[in-house]
This record gives sequence, C-alpha cells and structure tokens, in this order.
Amino acid sequence: MAERTIILAGGGHAHLGVLAAWARRPPPDTRRILITSHRHTAYSGMLPGWMAGLYDEADIMIDLAPLAAAAGTELVLASVTGLDPHHVHVGSTRLAFDIASLAVGGGIDTAPFAATGARLLPIRPVDRFRAGWRAFRDRPGDIAIVGGGAGGFELACAARAALPHVAITLVTPPGTLLAGHAPAVIALARRALIQRRITLIETSASGHPDGIRLDDGTILPAAAVILATGSIAPPWLAQSGLATTVSGHLAVDATLAVSPTIFAAGDIIQRTDRPLPRSGVHAVKAGPVLAANIAARLSGATLREYQPRQRTLYLLSTGDRRAILSWGPFALHNRLIWQLKHAIDTGFMRRQRV
Ligand SMILES: Cc1cc2nc3c(=O)[nH]c(=O)nc-3n(C[C@H](O)[C@H](O)[C@H](O)COP(=O)(O)OP(=O)(O)OC[C@H]3O[C@@H](n4cnc5c(N)ncnc54)[C@H](O)[C@@H]3O)c2cc1C
Repeated sequence: MAERTIILAGGGHAHLGVLAAWARRPPPDTRRILITSHRHTAYSGMLPGWMAGLYDEADIMIDLAPLAAAAGTELVLASVTGLDPHHVHVGSTRLAFDIASLAVGGGIDTAPFAATGARLLPIRPVDRFRAGWRAFRDRPGDIAIVGGGAGGFELACAARAALPHVAITLVTPPGTLLAGHAPAVIALARRALIQRRITLIETSASGHPDGIRLDDGTILPAAAVILATGSIAPPWLAQSGLATTVSGHLAVDATLAVSPTIFAAGDIIQRTDRPLPRSGVHAVKAGPVLAANIAARLSGATLREYQPRQRTLYLLSTGDRRAILSWGPFALHNRLIWQLKHAIDTGFMRRQRV
C-alpha cells in the first residue's frame, strides 16, 4: 500500500495523546510529521505554580523531541501560516497531507490594549509570557491582571505569592469572575482574593499608556498589565476555506472532524453540537480521540466521539500550596486539594518524559 502522510500541526496539549498512541502503535504505512513552532511546550496546569515559585522551569516544560522520536514522527520546528484542504502552509512552502490534525492553540486579542505598550504581558504565546514575567519579576511594580477566568484568577494568586509587596488588581467585567463555575466556587475565589490582598474590580477595561483605563474613565496605573482575556483563533484559519464559526474558530462536531481529511482540537475549535469550554483538560482528553479517528480515517472505520463527562474537575491553585476544587456544585479550598493537584500534574508530566 502507498505510504500516506499524516501532519500534526502544533505541539499543543491535544496532540500529546496522539504522540503517545503512536508510540504504542504507529499507524502502518504512514509518514508522520509534527510541525510546531517550539521544541518545548509549557504545561499550562503548572504555569501558575512556576510563577508562584513552586516549580522550576524544567518542571513545567514538555520536550516534544523525544515524544516525536518515540512516536516515529519527524519533528519540524516551524510556524504554520496557513492551511487548505490538502496542504499545510509554512511560509511559501506547501506540505501535502492525506490527513492533518491541528492543535496550534489560541492567541490573545491585544488590540484593545495597544495603548499600554511595553507594559502589556499577554499570557499567550506562553513562551513570550514566561520571558516577560522573568524580566518583570527582577524589577517588579504594581500589577493589573485583566480577565477573571481560571487563568486570570490563578495568575493573580501566583503573582501575589511571588511578589508580596506590590499592589495587585484583578479586573474583569461584572459576572465574569470564574464564569461557568458554581456560586460556591466563586465565593471561595472572592474570599481567596481578599485574603491575598488582591483588589477585584468588576468592570471592563482598555489600554492606557500608564496601565489600563476602566469603563468609568478611571486610569489604573500598573507597571505590568497581564492580559488573560480568553483565547482567540489564529487569523489564518479564516482564510483556510474550512468551516469556521463567527469567532473564527474551526467548527467541529463531537468527532473533531473539520473535513474528511482534517481534524482539530484544543483552543482553536468550537463545538457545533454542544458548548465546550476551552481548557487544557478538554484538549488533553481529546488526544486519544484524535488518534483513534486518524486511524479510523485510514482504515475506513467509524469515527469516535469526544464527549466530556457531565462534570469536569478543576483544581485552581491559589499560589500558596492551597487550591480550590471546583466539581459541579462542589467547592473546597485547602492544602489537600493542592496536594491532589500537585500529584495529578506531576504524574501527567512524568508520562510526558520518555
Ligand atoms: C496561564 C494559563 C493557565 C492555564 N491553566 C489551565 C488549567 O489549570 N487547567 C486547564 O484545563 N487549562 C488551563 N489553561 C488552558 C490551556 O492551556 C489550553 O486550553 C490548552 O493548552 C489548549 O491546548 P491546545 O492543544 O489547543 O494548544 P496549546 O497547548 O496552547 O499549544 C499550542 C502549541 O502549538 C504551537 N504553535 C502555536 N502556533 C503555532 C503555529 N502557527 N504553527 C505551529 N505551531 C504552533 C505552540 O508552540 C504550542 O506548542 C491555561 C492557560 C493559560 C494561558
């Protein structure tokens, strides 16, 4: 049988399960290529812990090179710049595929904060954020964090653990602090912010040369503005000719199929059959389904579906070896929850080391 080419675009959380599946059982008669912008990818679940000083950089970085080698997959370090139904584009090079899977992750919309200039620290791309935080940590000042989702909340707590003496403000529109989590979780989060002397301002904000401008016109000065405003789709997806949603994300159903030859998962998708939050949990859990469905396409078998459990477990670190458990209506905040999170996260990282 003629060899078929499978391209994985992006070394995102969603592709880790594909590489693991291929290491166990490589699809026969295939040439497999991983194209990703960096050899190392940060495990987002431990990134706030790194910021808080609980982990070293080496603890949170996944080296894709040995994972690709174990999966018999060529590693190409390059940025994907476009896609069409038959090719992945890297600059002016067109790489033909029989099957492609995308997990390049999302970006951050920095346009409303352009006026903030060099003080702006968007949390994506994560490698640039890490470098920006390292530099800021050495000459710290007051911090504003924009975006009250799980990422913004954890980063605010981590910043407090790292920098006990600066003013920290978390700014998020009304009703958006940990939106989607139960009231009991939000109540614990509010209390945690107060205990850590993190000011919560519930309003929208935009950029200003001194920091940020709040909705009522007040200027909040800040030496660093961390932008954690949710993930946007890479603009080149809209030019791919593939089905996208109004937000520019790839439209997929439960099989994660974008087209007969392309799959996608992680932050760049929007499910058409149900709402699904963009989180590392769902990205990681989509990996085995991607692997199964790539194999199913090759053999003509039926595609599997990724259906999340009714309740997703979230463990939100508060930076001080405590964490908040969020599981449906249940909420707890203590050291045991952090120990559970630490055990899950370090166990996950151990499995990424081959
Ligand atoms: C600070 C922070 C904390 C978070 N904490 C949590 C948490 O505790 N729990 C949770 O569930 N989720 C968390 N998330 C969300 C989680 O990180 C994402 O949902 C998840 O990483 C998305 O996975 P992905 O596969 O889409 O891509 P990512 O894991 O984002 O990876 C994208 C990969 O693609 C590569 N890449 C990017 N662009 C290109 C390109 N053009 N060409 C080639 N390669 C490219 C990158 O180098 C990277 O390796 C957090 C996010 C952040 C930013």
